[in-house]
Amino acid sequence: MNQSDRNVQSTTLKEAHRLMTICNSCRYCEGLCAVFPAMEKRSSFLEGDLNYLANLCHDCGACYSACQFAPPHEFSVDVPTNFAKVRSESYETYVWPGFLAPMFSRNGLKISLVAAMCLVIFLIGFVGWHDSSDLWSYNTGPGAFYRLMPHHIMVFIFGSAFSYAIIAGLFSARNFWRDSKNKFNDRPEARNFWSATKDATSLRYLGDEGLICNISENVSSDRRRLYHHFTFYGFFLCFLSTITATFYHYLLAREAPYPWYDIPVILGILGGIGLIVGPLGLLWEKFNNRKIKKTLGMDVAFLVMLFLTSLTGIILLFLRSSPAMGVLLFIHLGIVFSLFITMPYGKFIHGIYRFLALVRFSQER
Ligand code: SF4
Ligand code: SF4
Repeated sequence: MNQSDRNVQSTTLKEAHRLMTICNSCRYCEGLCAVFPAMEKRSSFLEGDLNYLANLCHDCGACYSACQFAPPHEFSVDVPTNFAKVRSESYETYVWPGFLAPMFSRNGLKISLVAAMCLVIFLIGFVGWHDSSDLWSYNTGPGAFYRLMPHHIMVFIFGSAFSYAIIAGLFSARNFWRDSKNKFNDRPEARNFWSATKDATSLRYLGDEGLICNISENVSSDRRRLYHHFTFYGFFLCFLSTITATFYHYLLAREAPYPWYDIPVILGILGGIGLIVGPLGLLWEKFNNRKIKKTLGMDVAFLVMLFLTSLTGIILLFLRSSPAMGVLLFIHLGIVFSLFITMPYGKFIHGIYRFLALVRFSQER
């Protein structure tokens, strides 16, 4: 049986089925977001449909505030809370490899343990493989980092971790994509990807076109959109910084660390600021404005990992000419490594599923 042919099994999916059946009769919220127009194209809901709709939802809460059937009404319609649970279950359903599905339960704790373990291993490696005189010594000028960890070893370790994250993400994405297919869907076209890219990079459904994100207490705000932008573009700029540094290393034969005014450093600083402001803002919103706590551990773990990656990178940048550079470098590398290997098993995967859901939505539209 194809995955998308599965009827709903879990209590969460049965509740999602009940809610979508009510909403499909009501249709009052059809102008609020992409979820309701996508729902209206279906007369029944299989597991793949519900996982697709839940990942199309960005948890703004607007439909809950607008709903005349919300609790304490006997219909007890609460789409955002249920969809948060469905999304959480969908990460386990589609994860690759499947035996790592338990990573998504008590995710915050598990990600913290992995991060702590990576940190300890990197620090033990640093202390164990260097003379004690190297631990707190000055290392400056081009190639300073690579005197502590040779460049080819760094490339091997981080290239492997990042490649693994990409491969695991792609296989999980394939599982999600196949399951969200309904009988009307053909292959997506380039314009579907373009449309989804525009929607995702502008966070269209988190703010404009009257679809204002209604966080709580009926207070409309697009602060979440702003913090998402800081986070997304911060990550993107850090990625660009790494690409530029790779270009410098291999094509210009220039070794890190680079001066303050050089492109990789400027990109890294701007990206780092984004990855501090964005995650902090989202954490603030999460603890102060949202009623939905189901995925709190997973959300917090990913945001804290991004924040720590940026914070340790910026501290390293400021203190790279001090004797603390070696320890700071290995702390930063330990955090980055744990971020890479946990990306397919945390909230990052939602970004991929959401993008694919937007592609599917564009296709259906
Ligand atoms: S959330 Fe409530 S108001 Fe909106 S479509 Fe569903 S039942 Fe209707
Ligand atoms: S919470 Fe927001 S995005 Fe999700 S279904 Fe409701 S209105 Fe749409």
